[in-house]
Amino acid sequence: MDFLLKFKAGAKALHKKAKNQFKKPNKAVLKKLNKEGPTLHDQVFENINCLDCAGCCKGIPPIVTHQDSKRIAKHLSISQNEFLDKYTKEDEDLDRVMGKSPCYFLNKDNTCQIYDVRPKACRAYPHTNAQKFSEHLNIHIKNIQHCPAVFQIFERLLK
Ligand code: SF4
Ligand code: SF4
Repeated sequence: MDFLLKFKAGAKALHKKAKNQFKKPNKAVLKKLNKEGPTLHDQVFENINCLDCAGCCKGIPPIVTHQDSKRIAKHLSISQNEFLDKYTKEDEDLDRVMGKSPCYFLNKDNTCQIYDVRPKACRAYPHTNAQKFSEHLNIHIKNIQHCPAVFQIFERLLK
């Protein structure tokens, strides 16, 4: 996939550039980011098929909330505790996350075995369509190296 090759070749340099550019953003810059970020999110995702990538499912364990675990356990016909013990762990920030990367539920063709009941965090990633784009600026900048879509959003923001 062209977009993956471009991402792999350019992510490190763009991450560095974005870190420098947005080190101390003033109010005008933050306003511009909030205005343009979500629009660029929509534009970029029009041309990216996540099934060609699955980078997040392969490398970033999503947070699993109480509601997520309840819903997924029901879907798997196991108890919530069994699900938590078997499929999740506590990470370094003491958040409950999926226990393995690539994710237990990722199929070989990049589809998700529990798509309809997947964690909320999986649905929301990479969070770049949030209205307050600038509130999570540091996370977005970090994600330039993890998500080809975020990479493309910042390519356009830094043009
Ligand atoms: S890393 Fe980004 S582009 Fe890749 S599957 Fe996840 S959200 Fe889609
Ligand atoms: S639950 Fe599904 S969408 Fe979420 S990380 Fe695992 S495979 Fe990906």
